[in-house]
Amino acid sequence: MTSFSYDFSGTYTGKTSFKTGVFIGGEFRHGASKSTIDVVNPATGKLVTQISEATAADVDDAVKVAQKAFDETWGLNVGGAERAALLNRLAILMDEHADELAAIEALDNGKTFGWAKGVDISFSIATIKYFAGWADKIQGQTIETDEKKLIYTRHEPIGVVGQIIPWNFPLLMFAWKIGPALATGNAIVIKPSEFTPMTALRMCELINEAGFPKGVVNVLVGYGHTVGQTISEHMDIQKVAFTGSTLVGRKVMAAAAATNLKNVTLELGGKSPNIIFDDADLEQAVNWAAHGIFWNHGQACCAGSRIFVQAGIYDEFLKRFTAKAQSIQVGDPFAPGIDQGPQVSQIQYDRIMSYIDSGKQEGATVHTGGERHGTEGFFIKPTIFTDVTPEMKIVKEEIFGPVGVVIKFTDEADVIRQANDTVYGLAAAVFSQNINRALETAHKLQAGTAWVNCVNQLHANVPFGGYKQSGIGRELGEYALHNYTNVKAVHVNLGHKM
Ligand code: NAD
Repeated sequence: MTSFSYDFSGTYTGKTSFKTGVFIGGEFRHGASKSTIDVVNPATGKLVTQISEATAADVDDAVKVAQKAFDETWGLNVGGAERAALLNRLAILMDEHADELAAIEALDNGKTFGWAKGVDISFSIATIKYFAGWADKIQGQTIETDEKKLIYTRHEPIGVVGQIIPWNFPLLMFAWKIGPALATGNAIVIKPSEFTPMTALRMCELINEAGFPKGVVNVLVGYGHTVGQTISEHMDIQKVAFTGSTLVGRKVMAAAAATNLKNVTLELGGKSPNIIFDDADLEQAVNWAAHGIFWNHGQACCAGSRIFVQAGIYDEFLKRFTAKAQSIQVGDPFAPGIDQGPQVSQIQYDRIMSYIDSGKQEGATVHTGGERHGTEGFFIKPTIFTDVTPEMKIVKEEIFGPVGVVIKFTDEADVIRQANDTVYGLAAAVFSQNINRALETAHKLQAGTAWVNCVNQLHANVPFGGYKQSGIGRELGEYALHNYTNVKAVHVNLGHKM
Protein backbone atom coordinates (compact mmCIF):
# COMPACT_ATOMS: atom_id res chain seq x y z
CA MET A 1 0.00 0.00 0.00
CA THR A 2 1.21 3.51 -0.81
CA SER A 3 -0.48 6.83 -0.87
CA PHE A 4 -0.79 9.54 -3.47
CA SER A 5 -0.74 13.25 -2.69
CA TYR A 6 -1.08 16.02 -5.21
CA ASP A 7 -1.31 19.77 -5.07
CA PHE A 8 -3.46 21.08 -7.93
CA SER A 9 -3.14 24.52 -9.40
CA GLY A 10 -5.33 26.21 -11.99
CA THR A 11 -9.14 26.16 -11.98
CA TYR A 12 -9.05 23.79 -9.02
CA THR A 13 -6.54 24.74 -6.38
CA GLY A 14 -7.15 22.02 -3.80
CA LYS A 15 -5.10 19.07 -2.71
CA THR A 16 -5.76 15.38 -2.77
CA SER A 17 -4.24 12.61 -0.73
CA PHE A 18 -5.45 9.02 -0.74
CA LYS A 19 -4.24 5.46 -0.42
CA THR A 20 -3.50 3.40 -3.49
CA GLY A 21 -2.71 -0.25 -4.11
CA VAL A 22 -4.68 -3.41 -4.70
CA PHE A 23 -8.02 -3.00 -2.87
CA ILE A 24 -9.25 -6.31 -1.49
CA GLY A 25 -11.52 -6.86 1.49
CA GLY A 26 -11.77 -3.14 2.20
CA GLU A 27 -8.00 -2.71 2.52
CA PHE A 28 -5.18 -1.63 0.30
CA ARG A 29 -2.20 -3.91 -0.09
CA HIS A 30 0.70 -4.41 -2.48
CA GLY A 31 -0.09 -6.62 -5.44
CA ALA A 32 1.27 -10.17 -5.29
CA SER A 33 3.84 -9.40 -8.01
CA LYS A 34 5.26 -6.26 -6.31
CA SER A 35 5.44 -4.59 -9.74
CA THR A 36 4.01 -1.14 -10.47
CA ILE A 37 2.06 0.70 -13.17
CA ASP A 38 3.04 4.22 -14.24
CA VAL A 39 0.41 6.95 -14.05
CA VAL A 40 1.19 9.60 -16.67
CA ASN A 41 -0.24 13.10 -17.04
CA PRO A 42 -1.36 13.17 -20.70
CA ALA A 43 -1.09 16.97 -20.82
CA THR A 44 2.67 16.78 -20.24
CA GLY A 45 3.61 13.16 -20.90
CA LYS A 46 5.30 13.16 -17.48
CA LEU A 47 5.05 10.57 -14.73
CA VAL A 48 2.59 11.48 -11.95
CA THR A 49 2.99 8.44 -9.72
CA GLN A 50 3.34 4.69 -9.72
CA ILE A 51 0.74 2.36 -8.29
CA SER A 52 0.86 -1.27 -7.31
CA GLU A 53 0.03 -3.64 -10.17
CA ALA A 54 -2.49 -6.40 -9.58
CA THR A 55 -1.94 -9.75 -11.28
CA ALA A 56 -3.76 -13.07 -11.59
CA ALA A 57 -2.96 -14.14 -8.01
CA ASP A 58 -4.67 -11.00 -6.71
CA VAL A 59 -7.79 -11.83 -8.73
CA ASP A 60 -7.94 -15.22 -7.02
CA ASP A 61 -7.67 -13.58 -3.60
CA ALA A 62 -10.25 -10.95 -4.47
CA VAL A 63 -12.73 -13.55 -5.70
CA LYS A 64 -12.41 -15.56 -2.48
CA VAL A 65 -12.89 -12.46 -0.35
CA ALA A 66 -15.84 -11.31 -2.48
CA GLN A 67 -17.49 -14.73 -2.26
CA LYS A 68 -17.14 -14.74 1.53
CA ALA A 69 -18.65 -11.25 1.71
CA PHE A 70 -21.47 -12.30 -0.59
CA ASP A 71 -22.22 -15.40 1.52
CA GLU A 72 -21.91 -13.84 4.96
CA THR A 73 -22.50 -10.09 4.97
CA TRP A 74 -24.02 -9.21 1.61
CA GLY A 75 -26.08 -10.99 -1.06
CA LEU A 76 -29.24 -12.43 0.45
CA ASN A 77 -28.20 -11.26 3.95
CA VAL A 78 -28.91 -7.61 3.25
CA GLY A 79 -32.29 -6.14 2.37
CA GLY A 80 -32.94 -3.73 -0.46
CA ALA A 81 -33.55 -0.74 1.79
CA GLU A 82 -30.14 -1.18 3.38
CA ARG A 83 -28.45 -1.48 -0.02
CA ALA A 84 -30.27 1.69 -1.09
CA ALA A 85 -29.07 3.53 2.02
CA LEU A 86 -25.47 2.50 1.38
CA LEU A 87 -25.60 3.59 -2.26
CA ASN A 88 -27.21 6.90 -1.33
CA ARG A 89 -24.50 7.49 1.26
CA LEU A 90 -21.87 6.79 -1.38
CA ALA A 91 -23.53 9.31 -3.74
CA ILE A 92 -23.50 11.95 -0.99
CA LEU A 93 -19.80 11.35 -0.34
CA MET A 94 -19.05 11.59 -4.07
CA ASP A 95 -20.94 14.87 -4.15
CA GLU A 96 -18.90 16.18 -1.21
CA HIS A 97 -15.72 15.25 -3.08
CA ALA A 98 -16.93 16.29 -6.55
CA ASP A 99 -14.23 18.91 -7.16
CA GLU A 100 -11.48 16.61 -5.99
CA LEU A 101 -12.76 13.71 -8.14
CA ALA A 102 -13.01 16.00 -11.17
CA ALA A 103 -9.46 17.23 -10.64
CA ILE A 104 -8.10 13.70 -10.33
CA GLU A 105 -9.96 12.73 -13.51
CA ALA A 106 -8.58 15.74 -15.42
CA LEU A 107 -5.05 14.95 -14.27
CA ASP A 108 -5.23 11.24 -15.03
CA ASN A 109 -7.32 11.22 -18.21
CA GLY A 110 -6.69 14.68 -19.71
CA LYS A 111 -10.34 15.71 -19.97
CA THR A 112 -11.02 19.27 -18.94
CA PHE A 113 -11.80 19.96 -15.30
CA GLY A 114 -15.07 21.63 -16.34
CA TRP A 115 -16.32 18.68 -18.37
CA ALA A 116 -15.11 16.21 -15.76
CA LYS A 117 -17.08 17.98 -13.05
CA GLY A 118 -20.12 18.87 -15.16
CA VAL A 119 -20.53 15.52 -16.87
CA ASP A 120 -18.37 12.68 -15.56
CA ILE A 121 -18.70 13.32 -11.85
CA SER A 122 -22.27 14.59 -11.81
CA PHE A 123 -23.48 11.76 -14.06
CA SER A 124 -21.61 9.24 -11.89
CA ILE A 125 -23.38 10.56 -8.81
CA ALA A 126 -26.73 10.53 -10.64
CA THR A 127 -26.10 6.93 -11.67
CA ILE A 128 -25.39 5.76 -8.13
CA LYS A 129 -28.49 7.61 -6.86
CA TYR A 130 -30.61 6.16 -9.63
CA PHE A 131 -29.63 2.59 -8.82
CA ALA A 132 -30.03 3.29 -5.10
CA GLY A 133 -33.65 3.96 -5.99
CA TRP A 134 -34.00 0.50 -7.52
CA ALA A 135 -32.37 -1.43 -4.66
CA ASP A 136 -35.63 -2.00 -2.75
CA LYS A 137 -37.70 -2.52 -5.89
CA ILE A 138 -36.06 -5.70 -7.17
CA GLN A 139 -39.07 -7.94 -7.45
CA GLY A 140 -40.35 -10.93 -9.36
CA GLN A 141 -43.84 -11.91 -10.45
CA THR A 142 -46.58 -14.27 -9.37
CA ILE A 143 -47.66 -16.40 -12.30
CA GLU A 144 -51.01 -18.15 -12.71
CA THR A 145 -51.23 -21.66 -14.18
CA ASP A 146 -54.19 -23.97 -14.58
CA GLU A 147 -52.90 -26.21 -11.79
CA LYS A 148 -53.33 -25.78 -8.04
CA LYS A 149 -50.11 -23.97 -7.50
CA LEU A 150 -48.59 -20.80 -6.22
CA ILE A 151 -45.77 -19.86 -8.58
CA TYR A 152 -43.59 -16.85 -8.14
CA THR A 153 -40.24 -15.64 -9.42
CA ARG A 154 -37.39 -14.23 -7.42
CA HIS A 155 -34.69 -12.00 -8.90
CA GLU A 156 -31.65 -13.13 -6.95
CA PRO A 157 -28.16 -11.65 -7.09
CA ILE A 158 -25.76 -13.65 -9.25
CA GLY A 159 -22.90 -13.77 -6.74
CA VAL A 160 -19.38 -12.58 -7.52
CA VAL A 161 -19.35 -10.53 -10.70
CA GLY A 162 -16.33 -9.34 -12.68
CA GLN A 163 -16.30 -5.91 -14.30
CA ILE A 164 -13.73 -4.55 -16.75
CA ILE A 165 -13.81 -0.89 -17.80
CA PRO A 166 -12.01 1.47 -20.22
CA TRP A 167 -10.17 4.77 -19.79
CA ASN A 168 -12.38 7.25 -21.65
CA PHE A 169 -14.85 7.88 -18.80
CA PRO A 170 -13.01 6.28 -15.88
CA LEU A 171 -15.30 7.19 -12.98
CA LEU A 172 -18.48 7.15 -15.03
CA MET A 173 -17.88 3.63 -16.31
CA PHE A 174 -17.06 2.60 -12.73
CA ALA A 175 -20.42 4.03 -11.59
CA TRP A 176 -22.36 2.45 -14.49
CA LYS A 177 -20.93 -0.89 -13.47
CA ILE A 178 -21.08 -0.87 -9.67
CA GLY A 179 -24.49 0.88 -9.46
CA PRO A 180 -26.72 -1.92 -10.79
CA ALA A 181 -24.47 -4.70 -9.43
CA LEU A 182 -24.66 -3.37 -5.86
CA ALA A 183 -28.34 -2.43 -6.06
CA THR A 184 -29.11 -6.07 -6.83
CA GLY A 185 -26.81 -7.42 -4.11
CA ASN A 186 -23.79 -8.76 -5.98
CA ALA A 187 -20.16 -8.68 -4.83
CA ILE A 188 -17.70 -7.13 -7.25
CA VAL A 189 -14.19 -7.59 -8.57
CA ILE A 190 -13.61 -4.62 -10.87
CA LYS A 191 -10.66 -3.76 -13.07
CA PRO A 192 -10.22 -0.10 -14.06
CA SER A 193 -8.14 0.68 -17.12
CA GLU A 194 -4.41 0.62 -16.45
CA PHE A 195 -4.28 4.07 -18.13
CA THR A 196 -6.74 5.77 -15.75
CA PRO A 197 -6.91 4.05 -12.36
CA MET A 198 -6.96 7.06 -10.06
CA THR A 199 -10.62 7.95 -9.53
CA ALA A 200 -11.49 4.28 -9.00
CA LEU A 201 -8.80 4.10 -6.33
CA ARG A 202 -10.08 7.32 -4.74
CA MET A 203 -13.54 5.73 -4.61
CA CYS A 204 -12.29 2.85 -2.45
CA GLU A 205 -12.03 4.94 0.70
CA LEU A 206 -15.43 6.50 -0.05
CA ILE A 207 -16.91 3.01 -0.42
CA ASN A 208 -15.50 2.12 3.01
CA GLU A 209 -16.72 5.40 4.47
CA ALA A 210 -20.22 4.79 3.08
CA GLY A 211 -20.25 1.61 5.15
CA PHE A 212 -20.35 -1.19 2.59
CA PRO A 213 -19.29 -4.49 4.18
CA LYS A 214 -15.62 -5.28 3.52
CA GLY A 215 -15.06 -7.33 0.39
CA VAL A 216 -18.23 -6.27 -1.43
CA VAL A 217 -16.23 -4.07 -3.83
CA ASN A 218 -12.68 -5.08 -4.74
CA VAL A 219 -10.67 -2.89 -7.11
CA LEU A 220 -7.73 -4.36 -9.00
CA VAL A 221 -5.63 -2.17 -11.26
CA GLY A 222 -3.74 -4.39 -13.66
CA TYR A 223 -3.30 -5.13 -17.33
CA GLY A 224 -5.91 -6.64 -19.61
CA HIS A 225 -3.97 -9.75 -20.56
CA THR A 226 -3.44 -10.60 -16.86
CA VAL A 227 -6.18 -9.27 -14.59
CA GLY A 228 -8.78 -8.82 -17.35
CA GLN A 229 -8.13 -12.25 -18.81
CA THR A 230 -8.17 -13.90 -15.36
CA ILE A 231 -11.49 -12.27 -14.50
CA SER A 232 -12.95 -13.42 -17.83
CA GLU A 233 -11.92 -17.04 -17.35
CA HIS A 234 -12.32 -17.34 -13.57
CA MET A 235 -14.41 -20.37 -12.60
CA ASP A 236 -15.84 -18.67 -9.49
CA ILE A 237 -16.96 -15.49 -11.23
CA GLN A 238 -20.48 -16.06 -12.51
CA LYS A 239 -20.83 -12.97 -14.65
CA VAL A 240 -18.54 -10.58 -16.47
CA ALA A 241 -19.53 -7.13 -17.66
CA PHE A 242 -17.06 -5.57 -20.08
CA THR A 243 -16.81 -2.14 -21.64
CA GLY A 244 -14.10 -1.55 -24.19
CA SER A 245 -13.11 -2.38 -27.73
CA THR A 246 -14.82 -4.96 -29.90
CA LEU A 247 -11.47 -6.74 -30.29
CA VAL A 248 -11.11 -7.30 -26.53
CA GLY A 249 -14.85 -7.97 -26.12
CA ARG A 250 -14.37 -11.01 -28.35
CA LYS A 251 -11.55 -12.24 -26.09
CA VAL A 252 -13.69 -11.81 -22.97
CA MET A 253 -16.51 -13.77 -24.55
CA ALA A 254 -14.17 -16.50 -25.79
CA ALA A 255 -12.60 -16.84 -22.32
CA ALA A 256 -16.04 -17.10 -20.72
CA ALA A 257 -17.16 -19.67 -23.31
CA ALA A 258 -14.04 -21.78 -22.78
CA THR A 259 -14.38 -21.90 -18.98
CA ASN A 260 -17.59 -21.69 -16.94
CA LEU A 261 -19.89 -20.14 -19.58
CA LYS A 262 -20.33 -17.15 -17.33
CA ASN A 263 -22.97 -14.66 -18.28
CA VAL A 264 -21.40 -11.96 -20.51
CA THR A 265 -22.50 -8.42 -21.25
CA LEU A 266 -20.48 -6.27 -23.62
CA GLU A 267 -20.49 -2.54 -24.31
CA LEU A 268 -18.19 -2.12 -27.29
CA GLY A 269 -17.08 0.29 -29.96
CA GLY A 270 -18.93 2.29 -32.55
CA LYS A 271 -18.71 4.26 -35.80
CA SER A 272 -21.89 6.20 -35.36
CA PRO A 273 -23.60 7.99 -38.24
CA ASN A 274 -24.86 11.53 -37.83
CA ILE A 275 -27.34 12.37 -40.61
CA ILE A 276 -28.14 15.97 -41.46
CA PHE A 277 -30.99 16.55 -43.89
CA ASP A 278 -31.47 19.67 -46.03
CA ASP A 279 -34.34 20.80 -43.80
CA ALA A 280 -32.35 20.72 -40.55
CA ASP A 281 -31.80 23.82 -38.41
CA LEU A 282 -28.32 24.34 -39.81
CA GLU A 283 -26.80 26.25 -36.94
CA GLN A 284 -28.01 23.68 -34.43
CA ALA A 285 -26.89 20.80 -36.64
CA VAL A 286 -23.39 22.28 -36.86
CA ASN A 287 -23.17 22.78 -33.10
CA TRP A 288 -24.43 19.29 -32.31
CA ALA A 289 -22.27 17.65 -34.98
CA ALA A 290 -19.19 19.28 -33.45
CA HIS A 291 -20.24 18.10 -30.01
CA GLY A 292 -20.91 14.67 -31.50
CA ILE A 293 -17.39 14.09 -32.74
CA PHE A 294 -15.20 16.39 -30.64
CA TRP A 295 -16.70 15.90 -27.17
CA ASN A 296 -14.27 14.15 -24.83
CA HIS A 297 -11.62 14.60 -27.56
CA GLY A 298 -13.47 12.11 -29.75
CA GLN A 299 -12.91 9.42 -27.15
CA ALA A 300 -16.57 8.47 -26.89
CA CYS A 301 -17.91 5.09 -27.96
CA CYS A 302 -21.00 6.81 -29.39
CA ALA A 303 -19.05 9.61 -31.16
CA GLY A 304 -20.80 10.76 -34.34
CA SER A 305 -17.73 10.09 -36.45
CA ARG A 306 -19.45 9.67 -39.84
CA ILE A 307 -21.27 12.89 -40.66
CA PHE A 308 -23.65 12.53 -43.61
CA VAL A 309 -24.85 15.84 -45.04
CA GLN A 310 -27.52 16.18 -47.73
CA ALA A 311 -26.31 17.71 -51.01
CA GLY A 312 -28.39 20.91 -50.79
CA ILE A 313 -26.67 22.16 -47.62
CA TYR A 314 -23.34 20.34 -47.93
CA ASP A 315 -21.16 23.35 -48.84
CA GLU A 316 -22.67 25.67 -46.26
CA PHE A 317 -22.56 23.00 -43.57
CA LEU A 318 -18.92 22.23 -44.29
CA LYS A 319 -17.98 25.91 -44.16
CA ARG A 320 -19.66 26.41 -40.78
CA PHE A 321 -18.55 23.05 -39.37
CA THR A 322 -14.94 23.79 -40.28
CA ALA A 323 -15.13 27.18 -38.58
CA LYS A 324 -16.64 25.51 -35.53
CA ALA A 325 -13.86 22.90 -35.38
CA GLN A 326 -11.25 25.65 -35.70
CA SER A 327 -12.82 27.57 -32.84
CA ILE A 328 -12.35 24.70 -30.37
CA GLN A 329 -9.79 25.70 -27.76
CA VAL A 330 -7.24 22.93 -27.24
CA GLY A 331 -4.91 23.04 -24.25
CA ASP A 332 -4.29 22.52 -20.53
CA PRO A 333 -7.34 20.73 -19.08
CA PHE A 334 -7.21 22.95 -15.98
CA ALA A 335 -7.01 26.28 -17.83
CA PRO A 336 -10.23 28.32 -18.10
CA GLY A 337 -11.89 28.40 -21.54
CA ILE A 338 -10.35 25.15 -22.77
CA ASP A 339 -12.70 22.80 -24.65
CA GLN A 340 -10.36 19.95 -25.48
CA GLY A 341 -7.44 18.47 -23.57
CA PRO A 342 -4.95 15.83 -24.66
CA GLN A 343 -5.70 12.30 -25.82
CA VAL A 344 -5.31 9.86 -22.97
CA SER A 345 -1.93 8.31 -23.78
CA GLN A 346 1.01 8.16 -26.16
CA ILE A 347 -0.42 4.91 -27.53
CA GLN A 348 -3.77 6.54 -28.37
CA TYR A 349 -2.02 9.60 -29.78
CA ASP A 350 0.06 7.40 -32.10
CA ARG A 351 -2.97 5.34 -33.07
CA ILE A 352 -5.02 8.41 -34.04
CA MET A 353 -2.11 9.97 -35.96
CA SER A 354 -1.68 6.73 -37.89
CA TYR A 355 -5.37 6.86 -38.87
CA ILE A 356 -4.88 10.46 -40.02
CA ASP A 357 -1.90 9.33 -42.11
CA SER A 358 -3.89 6.46 -43.59
CA GLY A 359 -6.67 8.89 -44.57
CA LYS A 360 -4.16 11.08 -46.36
CA GLN A 361 -2.52 8.12 -48.07
CA GLU A 362 -5.86 6.72 -49.22
CA GLY A 363 -6.67 10.03 -50.91
CA ALA A 364 -8.99 11.80 -48.47
CA THR A 365 -8.69 15.56 -47.97
CA VAL A 366 -7.80 17.02 -44.58
CA HIS A 367 -10.22 19.91 -44.38
CA THR A 368 -8.88 21.15 -41.06
CA GLY A 369 -6.57 19.85 -38.34
CA GLY A 370 -4.73 16.62 -39.03
CA GLU A 371 -1.74 17.45 -36.85
CA ARG A 372 -0.56 17.69 -33.28
CA HIS A 373 -1.26 20.72 -31.14
CA GLY A 374 1.60 22.22 -29.13
CA THR A 375 4.92 20.66 -28.33
CA GLU A 376 4.33 18.45 -25.31
CA GLY A 377 1.61 16.05 -24.20
CA PHE A 378 -0.77 14.12 -26.44
CA PHE A 379 -2.80 16.90 -28.07
CA ILE A 380 -4.35 16.57 -31.53
CA LYS A 381 -6.17 19.34 -33.39
CA PRO A 382 -9.84 18.75 -34.20
CA THR A 383 -9.73 17.13 -37.63
CA ILE A 384 -12.23 16.91 -40.49
CA PHE A 385 -11.77 14.76 -43.57
CA THR A 386 -13.72 15.12 -46.81
CA ASP A 387 -13.51 13.31 -50.17
CA VAL A 388 -13.73 9.94 -48.47
CA THR A 389 -14.89 6.63 -49.92
CA PRO A 390 -16.62 3.76 -48.08
CA GLU A 391 -13.64 1.43 -48.12
CA MET A 392 -11.23 3.86 -46.45
CA LYS A 393 -10.05 2.90 -42.96
CA ILE A 394 -11.04 6.30 -41.59
CA VAL A 395 -14.61 5.62 -42.72
CA LYS A 396 -14.84 2.00 -41.56
CA GLU A 397 -12.85 1.81 -38.34
CA GLU A 398 -13.31 3.40 -34.94
CA ILE A 399 -10.59 6.06 -34.57
CA PHE A 400 -11.49 7.11 -31.02
CA GLY A 401 -10.06 10.58 -31.47
CA PRO A 402 -11.13 14.06 -32.66
CA VAL A 403 -11.40 12.98 -36.29
CA GLY A 404 -14.63 13.09 -38.28
CA VAL A 405 -15.43 12.35 -41.90
CA VAL A 406 -18.04 14.39 -43.78
CA ILE A 407 -19.92 12.57 -46.55
CA LYS A 408 -22.41 14.01 -49.06
CA PHE A 409 -25.67 12.09 -49.67
CA THR A 410 -28.62 12.48 -51.98
CA ASP A 411 -31.78 10.97 -50.49
CA GLU A 412 -33.13 9.01 -47.53
CA ALA A 413 -32.67 5.55 -49.01
CA ASP A 414 -29.08 6.41 -49.95
CA VAL A 415 -28.14 7.67 -46.49
CA ILE A 416 -29.84 4.85 -44.57
CA ARG A 417 -27.95 2.29 -46.65
CA GLN A 418 -24.64 4.05 -46.04
CA ALA A 419 -25.32 4.67 -42.35
CA ASN A 420 -26.09 1.01 -41.74
CA ASP A 421 -23.10 -0.15 -43.77
CA THR A 422 -20.95 -0.84 -40.70
CA VAL A 423 -20.26 -3.73 -38.33
CA TYR A 424 -21.15 -1.42 -35.45
CA GLY A 425 -24.55 -0.34 -34.15
CA LEU A 426 -24.13 1.69 -30.99
CA ALA A 427 -25.74 5.04 -31.76
CA ALA A 428 -27.00 7.23 -34.59
CA ALA A 429 -28.37 10.74 -34.97
CA VAL A 430 -30.76 12.44 -37.38
CA PHE A 431 -31.24 16.17 -37.93
CA SER A 432 -34.41 17.32 -39.68
CA GLN A 433 -37.28 19.66 -38.87
CA ASN A 434 -39.67 17.25 -40.55
CA ILE A 435 -40.72 14.98 -37.69
CA ASN A 436 -42.01 12.21 -39.99
CA ARG A 437 -38.77 12.07 -41.91
CA ALA A 438 -36.69 12.22 -38.73
CA LEU A 439 -38.55 9.41 -36.97
CA GLU A 440 -38.83 7.23 -40.05
CA THR A 441 -35.07 7.48 -40.47
CA ALA A 442 -34.41 6.93 -36.76
CA HIS A 443 -36.45 3.73 -36.85
CA LYS A 444 -34.55 2.38 -39.85
CA LEU A 445 -31.11 2.90 -38.33
CA GLN A 446 -29.48 -0.20 -36.83
CA ALA A 447 -28.38 1.28 -33.52
CA GLY A 448 -29.15 0.88 -29.83
CA THR A 449 -29.64 4.64 -29.47
CA ALA A 450 -31.13 6.99 -32.06
CA TRP A 451 -30.97 10.71 -31.31
CA VAL A 452 -33.24 13.16 -33.13
CA ASN A 453 -31.91 16.73 -33.37
CA CYS A 454 -29.30 16.05 -30.68
CA VAL A 455 -26.34 13.74 -30.03
CA ASN A 456 -24.49 12.18 -27.08
CA GLN A 457 -27.43 12.49 -24.74
CA LEU A 458 -27.35 9.89 -21.97
CA HIS A 459 -29.42 9.55 -18.81
CA ALA A 460 -29.14 7.18 -15.87
CA ASN A 461 -32.71 5.98 -16.43
CA VAL A 462 -32.42 5.36 -20.19
CA PRO A 463 -30.91 2.11 -21.52
CA PHE A 464 -27.70 2.30 -23.51
CA GLY A 465 -26.06 -0.43 -25.56
CA GLY A 466 -25.35 -1.74 -29.00
CA TYR A 467 -26.77 -3.59 -31.98
CA LYS A 468 -24.46 -5.79 -34.06
CA GLN A 469 -20.80 -5.78 -32.99
CA SER A 470 -21.32 -2.86 -30.60
CA GLY A 471 -22.34 -5.16 -27.82
CA ILE A 472 -24.66 -7.45 -25.94
CA GLY A 473 -27.03 -6.24 -23.23
CA ARG A 474 -27.95 -2.80 -21.98
CA GLU A 475 -26.51 -0.60 -19.28
CA LEU A 476 -28.47 2.04 -17.35
CA GLY A 477 -32.20 2.15 -16.85
CA GLU A 478 -34.23 -0.74 -15.50
CA TYR A 479 -32.71 -2.94 -18.22
CA ALA A 480 -29.32 -2.88 -16.47
CA LEU A 481 -30.77 -4.73 -13.47
CA HIS A 482 -31.48 -7.80 -15.60
CA ASN A 483 -27.74 -8.19 -16.17
CA TYR A 484 -27.18 -8.75 -12.47
CA THR A 485 -29.92 -11.09 -11.33
CA ASN A 486 -30.76 -14.74 -11.78
CA VAL A 487 -34.44 -15.48 -12.10
CA LYS A 488 -35.68 -18.34 -9.95
CA ALA A 489 -39.19 -19.75 -10.42
CA VAL A 490 -40.61 -21.19 -7.19
CA HIS A 491 -43.49 -23.69 -7.58
CA VAL A 492 -45.60 -24.30 -4.47
CA ASN A 493 -48.03 -27.20 -4.62
CA LEU A 494 -51.43 -26.20 -3.19
CA GLY A 495 -53.01 -29.63 -3.11
CA HIS A 496 -52.23 -31.36 -6.38
CA LYS A 497 -51.98 -35.11 -5.49
CA MET A 498 -49.79 -37.60 -7.33
P1 NAD B 1 -9.80 -1.89 -24.55
O1 NAD B 1 -10.72 -2.91 -25.12
O2 NAD B 1 -8.41 -1.84 -25.03
O3 NAD B 1 -9.71 -2.05 -22.97
C1 NAD B 1 -10.86 -2.05 -22.15
C2 NAD B 1 -10.52 -2.77 -20.87
O4 NAD B 1 -10.25 -4.14 -21.19
C3 NAD B 1 -9.28 -2.24 -20.16
O5 NAD B 1 -9.49 -2.27 -18.78
C4 NAD B 1 -8.21 -3.24 -20.59
O6 NAD B 1 -7.16 -3.34 -19.68
C5 NAD B 1 -9.03 -4.53 -20.63
N1 NAD B 1 -8.44 -5.61 -21.43
C6 NAD B 1 -7.49 -5.53 -22.41
N2 NAD B 1 -7.20 -6.77 -22.86
C7 NAD B 1 -7.98 -7.63 -22.19
C8 NAD B 1 -8.15 -9.05 -22.24
N3 NAD B 1 -7.46 -9.81 -23.06
N4 NAD B 1 -9.07 -9.60 -21.42
C9 NAD B 1 -9.82 -8.84 -20.59
N5 NAD B 1 -9.68 -7.50 -20.48
C10 NAD B 1 -8.78 -6.91 -21.29
O7 NAD B 1 -10.55 -0.51 -24.74
P2 NAD B 1 -10.05 0.93 -24.31
O8 NAD B 1 -8.98 1.32 -25.26
O9 NAD B 1 -9.77 0.97 -22.84
O10 NAD B 1 -11.37 1.78 -24.54
C11 NAD B 1 -11.77 2.18 -25.78
C12 NAD B 1 -12.86 1.28 -26.34
O11 NAD B 1 -13.93 1.18 -25.42
C13 NAD B 1 -13.45 1.84 -27.60
O12 NAD B 1 -13.60 0.82 -28.55
C14 NAD B 1 -14.81 2.35 -27.16
O13 NAD B 1 -15.75 2.43 -28.17
C15 NAD B 1 -15.17 1.38 -26.10
N6 NAD B 1 -16.17 1.94 -25.18
C16 NAD B 1 -17.48 1.50 -25.28
C17 NAD B 1 -18.46 2.03 -24.45
C18 NAD B 1 -19.88 1.57 -24.57
O14 NAD B 1 -20.66 1.84 -23.65
N7 NAD B 1 -20.27 0.88 -25.62
C19 NAD B 1 -18.13 3.00 -23.51
C20 NAD B 1 -16.81 3.42 -23.42
C21 NAD B 1 -15.84 2.86 -24.27
